[in-house]
Amino acid sequence: MGHSYTLQLHTGSFVHQMHTFDEIKEKSERIIEKIKINDIILGWNTDKSLNKQLVSYFHKKGIRVLLWLPVLSETDQVRDTTMLTTINGTQGERVSVIEHESFSFACPATQQNIDYVMSIYEEYFADVPFDGVFIDKIRFPSFANGYDEGFGCFCKTCQEKFAGIDLNELKTLIHNHDQLLLTGQYDDNGIYHFKHQGIDAFYAKRARMITDYITALATYFSSRDLIVGADIYAPFLAYHVGQNIKEISEVVDFIKPMMYRYTEAPAGMRYEYQDYVKNFEDPSCFADYWGDDPASDDSIRKQNVFLSHLPTHVFPGIEINPIDGICSTDPLKLKQNLELFNDYPIISLCWDLMQMDELFLNIL
Ligand SMILES: [Zn+2]
Repeated sequence: MGHSYTLQLHTGSFVHQMHTFDEIKEKSERIIEKIKINDIILGWNTDKSLNKQLVSYFHKKGIRVLLWLPVLSETDQVRDTTMLTTINGTQGERVSVIEHESFSFACPATQQNIDYVMSIYEEYFADVPFDGVFIDKIRFPSFANGYDEGFGCFCKTCQEKFAGIDLNELKTLIHNHDQLLLTGQYDDNGIYHFKHQGIDAFYAKRARMITDYITALATYFSSRDLIVGADIYAPFLAYHVGQNIKEISEVVDFIKPMMYRYTEAPAGMRYEYQDYVKNFEDPSCFADYWGDDPASDDSIRKQNVFLSHLPTHVFPGIEINPIDGICSTDPLKLKQNLELFNDYPIISLCWDLMQMDELFLNIL
Protein backbone atom coordinates (compact mmCIF):
# COMPACT_ATOMS: atom_id res chain seq x y z
CA MET A 1 0.00 0.00 0.00
CA GLY A 2 3.02 2.26 0.16
CA HIS A 3 2.61 3.19 3.80
CA SER A 4 5.46 3.41 6.20
CA TYR A 5 5.03 2.89 9.89
CA THR A 6 5.82 3.99 13.37
CA LEU A 7 6.02 0.99 15.66
CA GLN A 8 5.46 0.91 19.41
CA LEU A 9 7.42 -1.38 21.69
CA HIS A 10 6.52 -1.78 25.34
CA THR A 11 9.70 -2.79 27.15
CA GLY A 12 7.98 -2.80 30.54
CA SER A 13 7.04 -0.45 33.34
CA PHE A 14 9.67 1.74 34.98
CA VAL A 15 10.79 -1.10 37.24
CA HIS A 16 9.43 -4.25 35.60
CA GLN A 17 11.29 -5.33 32.47
CA MET A 18 9.15 -7.46 30.15
CA HIS A 19 11.58 -8.88 27.59
CA THR A 20 15.27 -9.50 27.04
CA PHE A 21 17.15 -7.81 24.24
CA ASP A 22 17.39 -11.09 22.32
CA GLU A 23 13.64 -11.67 22.49
CA ILE A 24 12.95 -8.18 21.17
CA LYS A 25 15.57 -8.51 18.46
CA GLU A 26 14.19 -11.81 17.25
CA LYS A 27 10.64 -10.50 16.93
CA SER A 28 11.67 -7.12 15.48
CA GLU A 29 13.85 -8.74 12.83
CA ARG A 30 10.85 -10.49 11.29
CA ILE A 31 8.81 -7.29 11.25
CA ILE A 32 11.53 -5.01 9.89
CA GLU A 33 12.18 -7.47 7.07
CA LYS A 34 8.62 -7.13 5.80
CA ILE A 35 7.46 -3.55 6.32
CA LYS A 36 9.01 -0.09 6.22
CA ILE A 37 9.52 1.28 9.73
CA ASN A 38 10.51 4.95 10.15
CA ASP A 39 10.39 5.20 13.91
CA ILE A 40 10.28 2.97 16.93
CA ILE A 41 8.65 4.35 20.06
CA LEU A 42 9.95 2.27 22.95
CA GLY A 43 9.59 2.44 26.69
CA TRP A 44 9.45 2.86 29.52
CA ASN A 45 11.66 0.41 31.32
CA THR A 46 14.61 2.20 32.90
CA ASP A 47 17.28 -0.45 32.26
CA LYS A 48 20.04 1.61 30.66
CA SER A 49 21.97 -1.24 29.12
CA LEU A 50 18.81 -2.66 27.50
CA ASN A 51 17.87 0.79 26.17
CA LYS A 52 21.35 1.41 24.80
CA GLN A 53 21.40 -2.00 23.09
CA LEU A 54 17.97 -1.37 21.55
CA VAL A 55 18.80 2.12 20.31
CA SER A 56 22.00 0.89 18.75
CA TYR A 57 20.25 -2.08 17.14
CA PHE A 58 17.47 0.01 15.57
CA HIS A 59 19.90 2.74 14.48
CA LYS A 60 21.87 0.13 12.55
CA LYS A 61 18.62 -0.66 10.71
CA GLY A 62 18.20 3.03 9.83
CA ILE A 63 15.27 3.48 12.21
CA ARG A 64 14.85 6.49 14.51
CA VAL A 65 14.21 5.65 18.15
CA LEU A 66 11.97 7.66 20.45
CA LEU A 67 11.60 7.18 24.18
CA TRP A 68 8.02 6.38 25.19
CA LEU A 69 7.47 8.31 28.38
CA PRO A 70 4.16 8.40 30.31
CA VAL A 71 4.13 11.67 32.21
CA LEU A 72 0.96 12.47 34.13
CA SER A 73 0.39 8.98 35.41
CA GLU A 74 2.09 7.36 38.31
CA THR A 75 3.06 3.87 37.35
CA ASP A 76 5.19 1.84 39.73
CA GLN A 77 7.44 4.52 40.89
CA VAL A 78 5.89 6.98 43.24
CA ARG A 79 7.94 9.99 44.14
CA ASP A 80 7.12 13.43 45.51
CA THR A 81 4.39 14.17 43.05
CA THR A 82 1.31 16.32 43.49
CA MET A 83 -1.54 13.94 42.83
CA LEU A 84 -4.84 14.90 41.31
CA THR A 85 -7.51 16.04 43.78
CA THR A 86 -11.13 15.63 42.73
CA ILE A 87 -13.84 18.24 43.22
CA ASN A 88 -14.97 16.41 46.33
CA GLY A 89 -11.51 16.66 47.83
CA THR A 90 -10.51 13.01 47.46
CA GLN A 91 -7.43 11.79 45.65
CA GLY A 92 -7.75 10.28 42.17
CA GLU A 93 -8.42 6.54 41.98
CA ARG A 94 -6.01 4.11 40.41
CA VAL A 95 -7.35 2.32 37.38
CA SER A 96 -6.09 -1.13 36.47
CA VAL A 97 -7.23 -3.11 33.47
CA ILE A 98 -4.04 -4.63 32.12
CA GLU A 99 -1.27 -6.22 34.16
CA HIS A 100 1.49 -3.76 35.11
CA GLU A 101 -0.68 -0.97 33.72
CA SER A 102 -2.26 0.31 36.89
CA PHE A 103 -2.18 4.09 37.04
CA SER A 104 -3.68 7.18 38.57
CA PHE A 105 -3.12 10.79 37.60
CA ALA A 106 -0.91 13.61 38.73
CA CYS A 107 -1.85 17.30 38.54
CA PRO A 108 -0.59 19.02 35.36
CA ALA A 109 -0.62 22.50 36.87
CA THR A 110 2.26 22.39 39.33
CA GLN A 111 5.86 23.18 38.41
CA GLN A 112 6.87 20.33 40.71
CA ASN A 113 5.26 17.80 38.37
CA ILE A 114 7.04 19.25 35.35
CA ASP A 115 10.35 19.10 37.21
CA TYR A 116 9.57 15.52 38.19
CA VAL A 117 9.39 14.36 34.56
CA MET A 118 12.64 16.12 33.72
CA SER A 119 14.35 14.51 36.72
CA ILE A 120 13.15 11.04 35.66
CA TYR A 121 14.41 11.70 32.15
CA GLU A 122 17.77 12.96 33.34
CA GLU A 123 18.32 10.15 35.81
CA TYR A 124 17.40 7.21 33.59
CA PHE A 125 17.32 8.20 29.93
CA ALA A 126 19.44 11.26 29.15
CA ASP A 127 22.61 9.34 28.35
CA VAL A 128 20.87 6.90 25.99
CA PRO A 129 21.12 8.30 22.43
CA PHE A 130 17.38 8.52 21.70
CA ASP A 131 16.31 10.64 18.73
CA GLY A 132 13.22 11.93 20.46
CA VAL A 133 10.69 11.60 23.22
CA PHE A 134 7.10 10.51 22.83
CA ILE A 135 5.05 11.84 25.73
CA ASP A 136 2.06 9.77 26.82
CA LYS A 137 -0.67 10.32 29.45
CA ILE A 138 -0.73 14.04 28.77
CA ARG A 139 -4.27 14.61 29.85
CA PHE A 140 -6.72 14.65 32.70
CA PRO A 141 -8.34 11.34 33.64
CA SER A 142 -11.35 10.31 31.60
CA PHE A 143 -14.56 8.93 33.05
CA ALA A 144 -12.94 5.50 32.77
CA ASN A 145 -11.19 6.49 36.01
CA GLY A 146 -14.49 7.35 37.71
CA TYR A 147 -17.13 10.06 37.58
CA ASP A 148 -15.46 12.59 39.90
CA GLU A 149 -12.05 11.91 38.35
CA GLY A 150 -13.50 12.67 34.93
CA PHE A 151 -13.69 16.35 35.86
CA GLY A 152 -10.00 16.54 36.65
CA CYS A 153 -8.01 18.26 39.34
CA PHE A 154 -9.17 20.79 41.92
CA CYS A 155 -6.05 21.11 44.02
CA LYS A 156 -5.10 24.56 45.34
CA THR A 157 -3.01 25.38 42.27
CA CYS A 158 -5.78 24.32 39.89
CA GLN A 159 -8.37 26.28 41.86
CA GLU A 160 -6.25 29.39 41.37
CA LYS A 161 -6.17 28.67 37.63
CA PHE A 162 -9.97 28.43 37.64
CA ALA A 163 -10.28 32.03 38.90
CA GLY A 164 -13.45 33.60 37.54
CA ILE A 165 -15.31 30.28 37.31
CA ASP A 166 -18.04 29.61 39.86
CA LEU A 167 -16.79 26.30 41.24
CA ASN A 168 -19.73 25.97 43.64
CA GLU A 169 -22.13 26.11 40.72
CA LEU A 170 -19.97 23.58 38.89
CA LYS A 171 -19.95 21.30 41.90
CA THR A 172 -23.76 21.35 41.98
CA LEU A 173 -23.96 20.57 38.26
CA ILE A 174 -21.55 17.67 38.73
CA HIS A 175 -23.42 16.40 41.77
CA ASN A 176 -26.68 16.40 39.78
CA HIS A 177 -25.15 14.77 36.69
CA ASP A 178 -26.58 17.76 34.89
CA GLN A 179 -27.20 17.37 31.18
CA LEU A 180 -25.42 20.70 30.61
CA LEU A 181 -22.13 18.92 31.33
CA LEU A 182 -22.61 17.19 28.00
CA THR A 183 -24.45 19.70 25.86
CA GLY A 184 -22.49 21.50 23.17
CA GLN A 185 -21.01 21.10 19.72
CA TYR A 186 -17.74 20.45 17.93
CA ASP A 187 -16.02 23.02 15.74
CA ASP A 188 -13.97 22.23 12.61
CA ASN A 189 -10.90 21.34 14.71
CA GLY A 190 -12.75 18.98 17.00
CA ILE A 191 -12.80 21.46 19.86
CA TYR A 192 -16.02 21.01 21.82
CA HIS A 193 -17.91 24.16 22.75
CA PHE A 194 -20.20 23.67 25.72
CA LYS A 195 -23.48 25.54 25.66
CA HIS A 196 -23.23 26.59 29.31
CA GLN A 197 -20.79 29.47 29.62
CA GLY A 198 -19.29 28.45 32.96
CA ILE A 199 -18.74 24.86 31.84
CA ASP A 200 -17.22 26.04 28.60
CA ALA A 201 -14.82 28.34 30.47
CA PHE A 202 -13.94 25.45 32.81
CA TYR A 203 -13.05 23.12 29.92
CA ALA A 204 -11.11 25.89 28.18
CA LYS A 205 -8.97 26.42 31.32
CA ARG A 206 -8.38 22.68 31.65
CA ALA A 207 -7.18 22.50 28.06
CA ARG A 208 -4.94 25.53 28.70
CA MET A 209 -3.31 23.72 31.63
CA ILE A 210 -2.57 20.65 29.53
CA THR A 211 -1.24 22.73 26.63
CA ASP A 212 0.99 24.69 29.02
CA TYR A 213 2.26 21.47 30.56
CA ILE A 214 3.05 19.96 27.14
CA THR A 215 4.67 23.21 26.00
CA ALA A 216 6.99 23.19 29.03
CA LEU A 217 8.08 19.62 28.32
CA ALA A 218 8.34 20.11 24.55
CA THR A 219 10.51 23.19 25.08
CA TYR A 220 12.77 21.24 27.42
CA PHE A 221 13.16 18.22 25.12
CA SER A 222 13.51 20.32 21.95
CA SER A 223 16.33 22.26 23.60
CA ARG A 224 18.15 18.92 23.82
CA ASP A 225 17.67 18.39 20.07
CA LEU A 226 15.03 15.73 20.55
CA ILE A 227 11.98 15.22 18.37
CA VAL A 228 8.79 15.50 20.43
CA GLY A 229 5.68 13.44 19.77
CA ALA A 230 2.44 13.45 21.73
CA ASP A 231 -0.12 10.74 22.43
CA ILE A 232 -3.62 12.10 21.87
CA TYR A 233 -7.07 10.69 22.51
CA ALA A 234 -9.28 10.04 19.50
CA PRO A 235 -10.54 13.50 18.47
CA PHE A 236 -14.13 12.90 19.58
CA LEU A 237 -12.95 12.76 23.18
CA ALA A 238 -9.60 14.57 23.19
CA TYR A 239 -10.96 17.94 24.27
CA HIS A 240 -13.02 16.30 26.99
CA VAL A 241 -9.82 15.05 28.65
CA GLY A 242 -8.10 18.41 28.29
CA GLN A 243 -6.43 18.03 24.89
CA ASN A 244 -6.88 20.94 22.50
CA ILE A 245 -5.41 19.12 19.50
CA LYS A 246 -4.93 22.32 17.53
CA GLU A 247 -2.88 24.07 20.19
CA ILE A 248 -0.93 20.93 21.09
CA SER A 249 -0.11 20.46 17.40
CA GLU A 250 1.57 23.85 17.40
CA VAL A 251 4.17 22.80 19.97
CA VAL A 252 5.09 19.21 19.05
CA ASP A 253 6.62 17.55 15.97
CA PHE A 254 3.89 14.97 15.59
CA ILE A 255 0.79 13.62 17.28
CA LYS A 256 -0.44 10.07 17.44
CA PRO A 257 -4.20 10.06 17.90
CA MET A 258 -5.22 6.76 19.49
CA MET A 259 -7.81 5.55 17.00
CA TYR A 260 -8.39 2.42 19.08
CA ARG A 261 -11.56 0.96 17.68
CA TYR A 262 -11.21 -2.51 19.16
CA THR A 263 -9.78 -1.91 22.63
CA GLU A 264 -11.91 -2.52 25.71
CA ALA A 265 -9.64 -0.59 28.06
CA PRO A 266 -8.80 3.08 28.70
CA ALA A 267 -8.25 4.97 25.40
CA GLY A 268 -10.41 2.42 23.57
CA MET A 269 -13.00 4.52 21.76
CA ARG A 270 -16.13 2.54 22.55
CA TYR A 271 -14.98 1.81 26.08
CA GLU A 272 -14.37 5.48 26.81
CA TYR A 273 -17.60 6.56 25.15
CA GLN A 274 -19.71 4.18 27.22
CA ASP A 275 -17.97 5.23 30.44
CA TYR A 276 -18.69 8.85 29.55
CA VAL A 277 -22.31 8.79 28.50
CA LYS A 278 -23.50 6.33 31.15
CA ASN A 279 -23.26 9.20 33.64
CA PHE A 280 -25.95 11.22 31.91
CA GLU A 281 -29.55 10.64 31.06
CA ASP A 282 -29.49 11.68 27.43
CA PRO A 283 -26.32 11.36 25.34
CA SER A 284 -28.09 12.46 22.15
CA CYS A 285 -25.94 15.57 21.68
CA PHE A 286 -23.04 13.21 20.98
CA ALA A 287 -25.27 10.90 18.98
CA ASP A 288 -25.88 13.74 16.51
CA TYR A 289 -22.25 13.22 15.50
CA TRP A 290 -21.63 9.51 15.89
CA GLY A 291 -24.94 7.77 16.30
CA ASP A 292 -24.30 5.42 19.17
CA ASP A 293 -20.83 4.44 18.01
CA PRO A 294 -17.87 6.84 17.88
CA ALA A 295 -15.74 4.05 16.37
CA SER A 296 -17.95 3.48 13.32
CA ASP A 297 -16.48 4.00 9.84
CA ASP A 298 -18.62 7.09 9.43
CA SER A 299 -17.44 8.54 12.72
CA ILE A 300 -13.79 7.88 11.85
CA ARG A 301 -14.23 9.78 8.60
CA LYS A 302 -15.65 12.76 10.51
CA GLN A 303 -12.79 12.64 13.00
CA ASN A 304 -10.28 12.48 10.18
CA VAL A 305 -11.66 15.83 9.05
CA PHE A 306 -10.82 17.25 12.50
CA LEU A 307 -7.28 15.99 12.04
CA SER A 308 -6.86 17.24 8.51
CA HIS A 309 -5.90 20.87 9.16
CA LEU A 310 -3.47 20.48 12.04
CA PRO A 311 -0.09 22.23 11.82
CA THR A 312 1.90 19.09 12.60
CA HIS A 313 2.40 15.54 11.37
CA VAL A 314 -0.39 13.13 12.26
CA PHE A 315 0.41 9.42 12.59
CA PRO A 316 -2.92 7.77 13.44
CA GLY A 317 -2.56 4.89 15.89
CA ILE A 318 -4.24 1.58 15.08
CA GLU A 319 -4.16 -1.69 17.01
CA ILE A 320 -1.98 -4.59 15.92
CA ASN A 321 -2.07 -6.72 19.07
CA PRO A 322 -5.05 -8.94 19.66
CA ILE A 323 -5.41 -9.59 23.41
CA ASP A 324 -8.13 -11.84 24.75
CA GLY A 325 -10.92 -9.81 26.34
CA ILE A 326 -9.06 -6.52 25.81
CA CYS A 327 -8.30 -6.00 22.15
CA SER A 328 -10.28 -7.77 19.45
CA THR A 329 -8.43 -6.62 16.35
CA ASP A 330 -7.96 -9.16 13.54
CA PRO A 331 -6.71 -9.18 9.94
CA LEU A 332 -10.06 -8.07 8.50
CA LYS A 333 -10.37 -5.18 10.92
CA LEU A 334 -6.79 -4.17 10.19
CA LYS A 335 -7.59 -4.12 6.49
CA GLN A 336 -10.60 -1.87 7.10
CA ASN A 337 -8.49 0.45 9.21
CA LEU A 338 -5.84 0.74 6.53
CA GLU A 339 -8.54 1.78 4.07
CA LEU A 340 -9.96 4.39 6.44
CA PHE A 341 -6.53 5.86 7.15
CA ASN A 342 -5.26 5.48 3.61
CA ASP A 343 -4.54 9.21 3.24
CA TYR A 344 -1.89 9.19 5.95
CA PRO A 345 1.61 8.36 4.66
CA ILE A 346 2.70 7.19 8.12
CA ILE A 347 0.57 5.05 10.40
CA SER A 348 1.39 4.06 14.00
CA LEU A 349 1.16 0.38 14.88
CA CYS A 350 0.05 0.14 18.50
CA TRP A 351 0.57 -0.60 21.21
CA ASP A 352 3.15 -3.31 21.34
CA LEU A 353 5.15 -5.01 18.63
CA MET A 354 5.97 -7.88 21.02
CA GLN A 355 2.29 -8.83 21.01
CA MET A 356 1.79 -8.23 17.31
CA ASP A 357 -0.03 -10.90 15.33
CA GLU A 358 2.50 -11.66 12.60
CA LEU A 359 -0.25 -12.64 10.17
CA PHE A 360 -0.88 -8.89 10.01
CA LEU A 361 2.45 -8.45 8.24
CA ASN A 362 0.91 -9.87 5.07
CA ILE A 363 -1.69 -7.10 5.08
CA LEU A 364 0.44 -4.08 6.04
ZN1 LIG B 1 -4.23 20.37 40.39
